[in-house]
Amino acid sequence: MTQEPYFYHPLENIEDIDDFEAAVERRKLTHGVSPERPYTYWTLEIYDQKNGIRGGGGLGVLAADTRRVAEQMGVPFALVTPFYPSESHQVLEDGKVVDKHVEVNYRDFGFHFIDSIFIKCCNNLCRLDVIEKKFRNTRILAITEPNFGELYSGMSGSDHRLYQEVSLGFGGYQALKLVGLKPAIMQLNEVATFFAAMARLDELVSNGMDFYEAVVYTRKHTLYTNHTLVQAAEAEFSREQFERFVYPNLKSSAVRKWLDDKFVNGRLRLSAATIEIAELRSGVSKLHARVANYRDIAGNKVKFKAITNGIDMKTWVMPEILDFYEKQGILDGFDAPTADFPEFLTALSSEKIREFKAMGRRALNEALASRPDQNGKILEFSDNDFIFDFKRRFVDYKRPELPFTDPKKLRAILKPRGAHYILTGRLCTGDCRMTEKLDRILKIVAEDDYLRDHVHYIADYDEKLAYGLSVGSNVAINLPIVGLEACGTSWMKDVANLNLLISTHDGGVADAGRENYLNVSGETEDEEALELYRRMEEAISAWENDFELEFLIQKQLAAYLPVVSGARMLKDYLDYLFGV
Ligand SMILES: *Cc1c(COP(=O)(O)O)cnc(C)c1O
Repeated sequence: MTQEPYFYHPLENIEDIDDFEAAVERRKLTHGVSPERPYTYWTLEIYDQKNGIRGGGGLGVLAADTRRVAEQMGVPFALVTPFYPSESHQVLEDGKVVDKHVEVNYRDFGFHFIDSIFIKCCNNLCRLDVIEKKFRNTRILAITEPNFGELYSGMSGSDHRLYQEVSLGFGGYQALKLVGLKPAIMQLNEVATFFAAMARLDELVSNGMDFYEAVVYTRKHTLYTNHTLVQAAEAEFSREQFERFVYPNLKSSAVRKWLDDKFVNGRLRLSAATIEIAELRSGVSKLHARVANYRDIAGNKVKFKAITNGIDMKTWVMPEILDFYEKQGILDGFDAPTADFPEFLTALSSEKIREFKAMGRRALNEALASRPDQNGKILEFSDNDFIFDFKRRFVDYKRPELPFTDPKKLRAILKPRGAHYILTGRLCTGDCRMTEKLDRILKIVAEDDYLRDHVHYIADYDEKLAYGLSVGSNVAINLPIVGLEACGTSWMKDVANLNLLISTHDGGVADAGRENYLNVSGETEDEEALELYRRMEEAISAWENDFELEFLIQKQLAAYLPVVSGARMLKDYLDYLFGV
């Protein structure tokens, strides 16, 4: 290995050096973003169906919302992501969830081709197309190729996943240069985007910056946003995989050596390497930032700055409700809560709430018009119907089965009011455990003559259904095992759209006290189920009592509008990254 001699510093031709020296001197970033130096956001997943990119869940919804909020706030912003030429949809066939694949062409969604670039993998040059779509001060810069596959195709730790991650990192960094941009900051939305930081480090060193200075510089300008709780659960790659996919893309042997030193027993955990290259680190709710258990390579516990996720109000709040918030002085021009917003919430009478719900119900019916339930029936709800919903990815810790602990009890709660329960959520492909759980739920439902027609499973959960349920149902149910939800954003859509929230005290919900919503607690799952049933009864009676309804909805909003606001989130990031 040949390293440049220590005294070799041809730094004057590197523009970054000014920032670097200032940063070293003041120990922080010294300037904000500009059109040529945007805030860059790296993500393997974005969920933005209007722009042709369908993600898998919350991580992607967050990415799309962050860009939209940046657009509204006028923050120069570039989101760098793959464009997957194929996307998966789920349909229910003979009671079984089946994956269907749909081809997607970026040109149909207003992206245009910029140029092709190359990365190296397995002794080949792999060609990647760079495509772009601009939205005022922001843009989506995507890399794609016909064999890129689907989001999360291939197991975590597989060659294909590493190929996608390397393509995004090294390819995305070249794409940024291609359109003449330098990152003011690189926000890594989870460790799958780690290679973007490697591309930058490699670029600085091969342009002549001293290796150690380049590491310091890259660290100061990289933010690692963690959404996971347990480091041990994360993907690892072998040295042999790195030799095929990663090392050929590094020009600097010093960078390669740095990376090679991060292997433990021949395997590298991306989170461990990401922690080393990102001095800025955030978690996605107060609770998550506190409990995320990560250690750096030296074995020290990693601290995460709590920046709770938010949602783009313009995307997720029904326009009539948003208009009300703005006219009443509850939200400001960026859709962040005003200083005295709780006072103005008193304008939200039960009459208004019911009026908004009736409007929302029409949007829900529209979302359901093309999606039959498990009985093949197209649902249509009237203003007087009462709806509970549970809408989230089918994963163990979210516990979709908990409300079915005692089917007789569930029936006894729903039946007197003629209430419905809508269940929707994507199954992870090949997740047999959760497929079995869904089967069991559907069997319980089919065996009861009331539940059969009043509990509905809707397949292919997506943004449109998420929106329809947020605006059109009465009560949203959120039951993660406490400590396992990093933040969650679907409950935010519910609170902002005037649904009562029944939830365990977890993720972003725990940013405020448990007295602010219909809390479910308990020592055991059975206790939690009993508490859930009590809360469901309470929710039904609250909707029948004007005073109670107003009181509960206003209390939820007073506690959570600041949490839910995407503008608040982006301001928190900007303060953390560029503030004093
Ligand atoms: C909002 C949303 C999510 C986020 O769900 P959480 O369970 O709260 O993380 C996932 N998928 C879709 C389609 C969404 O609209």
